[in-house]
Amino acid sequence: MNQVISEDLIFSYDGLEPDVKELIDAAIKTRKNAYTPYSNFKVGSALRTTTGEIFTGCNVENAAYSPTVCAERTAICKAVSEGYREIAAIAVIGFQEHSFTTPCGVCRQFISEFCHTDIPVYVTKPVPDRVLVTSIYKLLPINFVPVL
Ligand SMILES: [Zn+2]
Repeated sequence: MNQVISEDLIFSYDGLEPDVKELIDAAIKTRKNAYTPYSNFKVGSALRTTTGEIFTGCNVENAAYSPTVCAERTAICKAVSEGYREIAAIAVIGFQEHSFTTPCGVCRQFISEFCHTDIPVYVTKPVPDRVLVTSIYKLLPINFVPVL
């Protein structure tokens, strides 16, 4: 499976705004705590709430595999458990030599639950040079909304 990503969505880390770099740096730092004895595929994430707080998360694997939790959902659960329910931006850090570690489908839906508008999603590697700058609406154009 290959990713097809337009070059105009890719930016230099050095040229990003300080608040974006701060978010990416927090995700890189948290990635080091990933619990990945089965895959050794470490992912870090950091989100900024609409009121400016940063929450971080890493992936946490489990011997039974399906209970594994992604980094993005860890960060979101930390934020929600502390009373913050609105995300303004999120960064995801993983290392795949030839592709970007974009949020999985479950995480895209999970992120969309806590966005009232489109938000930026920054995806890069542990040593950030090229940063994919996309958005939750681009990653999940038509999210699931329950009938209430
Ligand atoms: Zn995920």
